Amino acid sequence: MPETQVENICIVLDCSRSMFRHDYDPNRFEVCKEAIINLIRTRRSEDQKTGFALITVGKDVKKNIGFSDYTDPSMLHDHFDNNVLLGGPSKISDGIGIAIKMHIEAIRIAGAKVPKIVVFSDGNFTPTKVEPAKMAEIAKGLEIKIDTIRLGEMEHFNILKRISELTNGTYYYCNSINDVLSAAITIAESNKGKKYQKSKSFTKILEKIAVPLKTIAELKKDASDIVARIRGTASFKKCGICFQEQDPITKAPFNISGRYCPNCGQGFHIHCMSQWAQNNEDSGGTVTRCPHCFYLVKIPSEVQQAARIKKDLDRERKSKRSYGGSDQYYAKKYIAKNLGDAAIYSACPVCNTIFDENEEVIKCGNPKCNAIYHLDCIGEVENKPCKICGKKIVRSF
Ligand SMILES: [Zn+2]
Ligand SMILES: [Zn+2]
Ligand SMILES: [Zn+2]
Ligand SMILES: [Zn+2]
Repeated sequence: MPETQVENICIVLDCSRSMFRHDYDPNRFEVCKEAIINLIRTRRSEDQKTGFALITVGKDVKKNIGFSDYTDPSMLHDHFDNNVLLGGPSKISDGIGIAIKMHIEAIRIAGAKVPKIVVFSDGNFTPTKVEPAKMAEIAKGLEIKIDTIRLGEMEHFNILKRISELTNGTYYYCNSINDVLSAAITIAESNKGKKYQKSKSFTKILEKIAVPLKTIAELKKDASDIVARIRGTASFKKCGICFQEQDPITKAPFNISGRYCPNCGQGFHIHCMSQWAQNNEDSGGTVTRCPHCFYLVKIPSEVQQAARIKKDLDRERKSKRSYGGSDQYYAKKYIAKNLGDAAIYSACPVCNTIFDENEEVIKCGNPKCNAIYHLDCIGEVENKPCKICGKKIVRSF
């Protein structure tokens, strides 16, 4: 059995006024509708995994069928009759825009399917805020191919052809009903024997569309429903990876270093999430999937740095080279804000309290250690091992 590439196909159907011309029997729109039903039926008979969505562009531009609420092809006739507002302008650009958004969300949720957009139109587009070529550029940046099926008379400026060329999709010019139907079947069978290979820029694409982890403040502000879904306040302040309240690297309490998945609301230490990301080779360490719900999330960049430092230290410890208090570092005084995000995201390992941005703090002299202490707390560790890296702290101020 030949291997097939599983796709998510978002169909954009032009339902505007000009699609009701009778140059095709009974009209352009009805022919496209038939072709779409055939396309879905043909693909489904070979490959049940391909996802379909439908966007209609007519009196309004809207998502008619989402990837998750796909129904049986035989239901589509009724669906068209009941849910599509025919006529009006042809805002193809807006339709492609919604298709791109749906693909982005589908990749955030799962990501295993190859995104594709198929546009059925006569190419008489109504200009909107973003012109179709610009939309195609956005799709290209996300490696979403746009196939276009064009009906009606040829014009000098062929926007559909341009869209397909820009996105490495295929353009079909259809002069008859048979042309339209056979183009749809060609698209339905186009994944046969194709093996999907992740492009080199795949990680960059994921970085573009990953959603940042949320802070407690952001979570409370715009997603109180997510908070409500979390069972009890105890788990709310615990990391879903290490199951602790305190950050294993910075020792900061959860309200400092805890972040929440924007989709399921599960809390994680940013450092635990960062290490989780680094163990996932697809992500390049900057993006990862929530261990709880698999949603695509972004790790704050300053945390990646902290995690790298931790990794170096672990390596050093393993090699046992120069570890065990035999060496010492001179701790220096800084204004907290001059230490940047490292200070903002950490807490003093002695008292577990955060820093005021203008206060004087002491940084462990080990260049590979990020530990920052309050001036009042440094006495606790002076001439003793740093609570984070274990090197002896010697005062130099
Ligand atoms: Zn943790
Ligand atoms: Zn999640
Ligand atoms: Zn302190
Ligand atoms: Zn240290």
